[in-house]
Amino acid sequence: MRVFKFGGASVKDAEGIKNVYDVLQKVGYEDVLLVVSAMGKTTNALEEVIKNYFEKSEELNSSVQEVKKYHNQILLDLFDDEKNEVFAAVNTLFSELEYFLAHNKSPNYNFVYDQIVSYGELISTTILSHFMSFMGIKTQWLDVRNFIKTNSNYRDAEVDWELTQATISKNVKKKMLNITQGFLGSDENNFTTTLGREGSDYTAGIFAYCLNAESVTIWKDVPGVMNADPRYFENASLLSHISYREAIEMAFYGATVIHPKTLQPLQKKEIPLYVKSFINPMLAGTCVSKGSDSEWQIPSFIVKRDQLLISLSSIDFSFIMEENISEIFALFHQFKLKVNLIQNSAISFSVCVEDKFENFKDLNPILSKKFKVDFDENVTLYTIRHFNDKAAQTVEQNKTVLLKQVSRETMQIVTKEN
Ligand code: ADP
Ligand code: ASP
Ligand code: MG
Repeated sequence: MRVFKFGGASVKDAEGIKNVYDVLQKVGYEDVLLVVSAMGKTTNALEEVIKNYFEKSEELNSSVQEVKKYHNQILLDLFDDEKNEVFAAVNTLFSELEYFLAHNKSPNYNFVYDQIVSYGELISTTILSHFMSFMGIKTQWLDVRNFIKTNSNYRDAEVDWELTQATISKNVKKKMLNITQGFLGSDENNFTTTLGREGSDYTAGIFAYCLNAESVTIWKDVPGVMNADPRYFENASLLSHISYREAIEMAFYGATVIHPKTLQPLQKKEIPLYVKSFINPMLAGTCVSKGSDSEWQIPSFIVKRDQLLISLSSIDFSFIMEENISEIFALFHQFKLKVNLIQNSAISFSVCVEDKFENFKDLNPILSKKFKVDFDENVTLYTIRHFNDKAAQTVEQNKTVLLKQVSRETMQIVTKEN
C-alpha cells in the first residue's frame, strides 16, 4: 500500500481538488490511503471561530458563516447538481459544529479547540471522497478518530502506538482508495484530539508505519525538499535524495516542508518518503530514505522568524551551572517556550526561543528575581547545514549578528534586521 498526503494548499479550491483527481489518474490510486488536510486556510479560520467563542464575540456567527461560505463555493464549483448528497453531508457537519458551539459546557480551551478545529479535516475529506465517487473512483471514507488513538493532551496529543497499530492493521481495506483526515485522533473517551499544527504529514507517517506501507508521498506546492525555502531564497535548488537523518535535522531546525515528527516512524521501518509537486506530479521530487545524501556539499538554509533571544546572567557573578540550568529549563517548559538554541558561558546563559503563546511577559518577572535578564524580540534564527564561508556571508549581510554557534555540520546565527 502507498500512503499519499495532500495538504491545505493542494485542496484550497475546486481546481485544487480536480487536480488531486488528475494526480491520482497519473500515479494510480489502487491500494492507496489518502490523508487530507483542511482546505486552504480553514484551520486558521476555525481558530478565529474558537477565539470568538471564548471571547463571546458578536463576530462568532459571521466567522462560522465565512467558513461555510468558503466550502459552499467549492461545492458549487465541483458539483453542478445541488441534489448531490455531498451538500447534505457537509451541511450535517456544520450543524454538528453549531450544535457544539451552542451546547458545550467545557471551559477547557484546548479541549474545545480540538472539537472545533477538527471540522476542517472532516469537511475536506467528505468533499474529496464524494468528488472522487462523482468522477467514478470508488473510495472508502475513514473517520481517522477510529484509528489513531491518543492521550488527552489536547492540541498536541501523543499517539498510543499499540492501540493505533491494532485498529489500523485490522480495519484499513487494501486494494482500494481509502480517504482519511490528517491531524486528528481521539482519546480513550472518544473525544477528538489533534496532533499539533501542520500535523497531517505526521498522520501519513503513522499510517505508513502501521500498514507497513511501500512508501509515503507528500504532495506539495514546491518541487520537493530544497536547500532553502523558495519563498525566501531566490536560488533554492532541489535536493533529489536525502537521508532520514538529514531530513530530520532539517525539519527539526524548522524546514516546514516536512513536519518533524513524520520521519521517525518511517525511518524505523525504512519506508521511503517522497516529497513531490502536486503541480508536476511526474517529476521525481525528493526521496528521503536510508543511505547517503547526494547533495551533502550544498549548504541548506533554514529560517525561523519571530524568535526571542533571552540572555540571563547571574546577579552575584556566581556560575550558571547544572542546577540553575535545570531550573531555567523547567520554567521554559512550564511556560511553553520552545528552545531553539542554547549558548552558555561561566556567568551567562543565552537561549533563542519561540514564544508562541506570548508567555514570556509572565515568565520574565520570575526569572528577574534570580538573574539579570536581557532580551531581544523579533529576531531571526538562521540555521545553515553544511555551511561554508560564502553561505554565512549571505546570511549575515546587512544584518546585526547577535549570536553565532558553530558545530561540525551546522551553523546557527541569530540576527536582527538593520
Ligand atoms: P502543506 O500544504 O502540505 O501544509 P506546507 O505549506 O506546510 O504544505 O509546506 C510547503 C511549504 O514549505 C512550501 O510552500 C515552502 O514555502 C515551505 N518550505 C520551507 N522550507 C522548505 C524547503 N527546504 N524546501 C521546500 N519548501 C520549503
Ligand atoms: N489543518 C492542520 C493545520 O493547518 C493540519 C495540517 O494542515 O497539517 O495545521
Ligand atoms: Mg501545512
